[in-house]
Amino acid sequence: MPDPAAILAVAIQEARLGLAEGGIPIGAAIFRADGTLLGSGHNRRVQHNDPSAHGETDAFRNAGRQRSYRDLIMVTTLAPCWYCSGLIRQFGFKTVIVGESRTFQGGIAWLKENGIAIQDLDNPECFQMMTGYIRQNPEVWNEDIGED
Ligand SMILES: [Zn+2]
Repeated sequence: MPDPAAILAVAIQEARLGLAEGGIPIGAAIFRADGTLLGSGHNRRVQHNDPSAHGETDAFRNAGRQRSYRDLIMVTTLAPCWYCSGLIRQFGFKTVIVGESRTFQGGIAWLKENGIAIQDLDNPECFQMMTGYIRQNPEVWNEDIGED
């Protein structure tokens, strides 16, 4: 298992990139257990006018086809939403590293109930990026999580 903080740094870099592009600062990456990076990505709802481009789905697409996800690690700056939690279960990821879940809990409890190991690092930069963005763009955030 790679160092959780070290692999979270890759997702944070993606979130910073998204913020610099004017988007929602959520980044994610997929690693092998030996620490090999398979793909990373960030939320591109605003940039690509694409509501399906969450951090996790962007990383998932960028990682390309994989035979199995059982031994892969999904790392994301924010607790995965229902849509991304569904992806995690659908493809059989067993380990998820979360930057923070204070802003948003998403499907964390449901993933845990289903035997997925969640490590929540409660990272201050992840929390500050999200709370700052939500304060300035509440309508974009609500759109992203399907709230009115
Ligand atoms: Zn999502």
